[in-house]
Amino acid sequence: MKTVIEMLTERFIKAKPILEKLEKHRFEAYFVGGCVRDLLLNRSIKDIDIATSATPEEVQKLFPKVIPVGIEHGTVIVRHEHESYEVTTFRLDGDYSDSRHPDSVEFIKKIDKDLERRDFTINALAMDKTGEIIDLFEGEKDIEARLIRTVGDGSKRFKEDALRIIRALRFSSQLGFKIHPATLQHMVTNKSDIVQISVERITNEMEKFFAGAYVQLGLEYLYKAEIYLDLPVFKDEPILVQKLPREMKPLASFAEVIVLFHYLYPKVSISTWIKAWKCSNRMKRTAFELFEDLSYYKQNGIDNEFIYQLTTERFEPFIRLTDMLFNKKIIYNELHKKKLALPIQARNELAINGNELLSLYPERKGGPWIKNIIETAEKKVVTGELQNNYQEIKEWLRWNQQEIN
Ligand code: ATP
Ligand code: MG
Repeated sequence: MKTVIEMLTERFIKAKPILEKLEKHRFEAYFVGGCVRDLLLNRSIKDIDIATSATPEEVQKLFPKVIPVGIEHGTVIVRHEHESYEVTTFRLDGDYSDSRHPDSVEFIKKIDKDLERRDFTINALAMDKTGEIIDLFEGEKDIEARLIRTVGDGSKRFKEDALRIIRALRFSSQLGFKIHPATLQHMVTNKSDIVQISVERITNEMEKFFAGAYVQLGLEYLYKAEIYLDLPVFKDEPILVQKLPREMKPLASFAEVIVLFHYLYPKVSISTWIKAWKCSNRMKRTAFELFEDLSYYKQNGIDNEFIYQLTTERFEPFIRLTDMLFNKKIIYNELHKKKLALPIQARNELAINGNELLSLYPERKGGPWIKNIIETAEKKVVTGELQNNYQEIKEWLRWNQQEIN
């Protein structure tokens, strides 16, 4: 039989020296939170977080590479063998007067109260360097039963921080876990506090919600508990939830979520979504691009011009949305093959460039005409109307003088 330590994945083994060093200096240190939960679930682990009795200053003294990311909350990042680990001092959260963040945090020497402040029993697990689990709230039992349950009284915990209501939905969508009836009840009675939370924190959780492998289950809770009525945009347009496809599938980014809803319900513009959910400019650009891709595809299908401008990082979002919106299964490798078969992959492969144009027309000065010709030639080469060959392009220009203006 395998011992617990053998079951620890390579990632934990790589992080073990951090616990060992802290312990050598008479501090306590544990792996904690999501990484322990995911280990027990045999799920791939995102980040390995560490909790310790050492203060941030003490951690900074012990390790050569430390990035102080949130000292006031007790968190620093320790770099070890090219990996980053969040190391957080055991802490007690002070009063929550605003359902948002504790008024103060207090560093403590024992882990028990630190685990007690955590949101759900499945997230309140710690593990020492030998693989021994500390489970004060029956988290392992809840993992076994696939159940999300608050640590302590749900009503109190959601009043402290209403984001936990959204987090319960998020974990249900990611893990496929049911929400304990008492916890669900407390989510419903406290959901009006969600408006007090910063939108960025909500967006961050809801992005993970829509990306969850069990998003269908998460959505059931979102409807049943009517939590959407307390979310940006949905609260003004509750009809939105009825527009979703019967079979919702995970969407990797919130840009995809916005495009899906906008496509299904054009009355709410992409800009409205972006503003209400306080998304980044980058997210905004991605959403507009994706929407254009879908609109072009709907009109023209997949032609050369489309595939030429579709960068490979847009393949997957495009495939997911054509599946959900038009019930079309587009295969990644087929898009890829089509792209490779194009006459050129990028403008710099065009057989003529700006300097060559200038020498073809020595009497002309540089100007927008150059860009116009290059763009027209590029388009014609991509669609196959013109061969990508210097002589051919020169010939085409000779017979199409109007292109020069
Ligand atoms: P993921 O793998 O998606 O990162 P996670 O469980 O690590 O999941 P995080 O948001 O990274 O989730 O939080 C790390 C840990 O901190 C949680 O497991 C939980 O113990 C605790 N935690 C995070 N947010 C809260 C909160 N709002 N209230 C109470 N505890 C929280
Ligand atoms: Mg995490």
